[in-house]
Amino acid sequence: MVSEVVVNRVVVRVPAKINLSLAVGARAADGYHPLATVFEAVSLFDEVHAEEFDGDGIDVLVAGAGAESVPTGEDNLAVRAARLLAERYDIELAGLALTLRKAIPTAGGMAGGSADAAGTLLACSVLWDIDIDADEMRDLAAELGSDVPFALLGGTAIGTGRGTELVPVLSRGRRHWVLVFDNDGLSTADVYRRYDELRPKGSELAVPDELMNALTAGSVVDLAPALRNDLAEAAIDLRPDLEDLLARGVEAGALAGMISGSGPTCAFLCRDESTAIDVSGRLARDGAGDRVRRVVGPAHGARLLG
Ligand code: ATP
Repeated sequence: MVSEVVVNRVVVRVPAKINLSLAVGARAADGYHPLATVFEAVSLFDEVHAEEFDGDGIDVLVAGAGAESVPTGEDNLAVRAARLLAERYDIELAGLALTLRKAIPTAGGMAGGSADAAGTLLACSVLWDIDIDADEMRDLAAELGSDVPFALLGGTAIGTGRGTELVPVLSRGRRHWVLVFDNDGLSTADVYRRYDELRPKGSELAVPDELMNALTAGSVVDLAPALRNDLAEAAIDLRPDLEDLLARGVEAGALAGMISGSGPTCAFLCRDESTAIDVSGRLARDGAGDRVRRVVGPAHGARLLG
């Protein structure tokens, strides 16, 4: 006798990203900026728990880092993801409880909301037993936001267009990063607005050859000078204190420091694990305290835990 397993609770783990390179073109007529970026998923994960309950509507509970600044209504990207999936696959949305256990900082330039959207797509597709393939899932992800498809994929990948056209990059080795979060987030829209004022013509949309060569060779020493972020100038203009933090990370022994995406999280590339331990300790003692994390890249994309 074949017995059917009814799944009524699913847990998915989904990573934060940094951009090893982020080239931003001029704002297009549709309001979006074309990008040429290299994403790297890092070992900092949000968890999405999806469960059915007897009732209707979507209940959202947010726990963990920065939970108080995450909306719990229709604005939450996880809710938008669940509604989009339900609508496209004709799922009658009875009671759905979403619990987001956040480790990724909110409005930190590490795509935390996008990660939750990606995690919810995967979790609900399993919960509702939807026959969806990877391409269809990626297309839905792209509708939800520029960083959502990469959160599904993970690893290291080139992103073009709005960041949703992805090609995996074969990179060698693991990279040790030290992250410093900030208590005050930066709005991505504000950073892009400042970028438009500072560089109305945008910049050349390319991924540096040196960066690709360093990834293929697995050389962090060659990677450090090739890191690039076109949004850094605008983020620092809005938050001048970040420049000092970047300098302090390098003084503490990092090979390079960069703003992660639209900031304000700063990411420091370290030669190896023991240097990363050293750098994180120094930055913590130097005032960053419990806002410091050590992570490794590349990490896997959205993954089912149970
Ligand atoms: P990106 O790097 O993609 O620009 P970010 O990491 O800077 O994004 P997010 O953490 O994704 O920023 O959050 C941006 C805003 O989105 C927050 O200020 C919050 O109001 C809203 N938001 C909606 N859903 C979520 C979610 N699940 N987690 C965090 N923020 C969310």
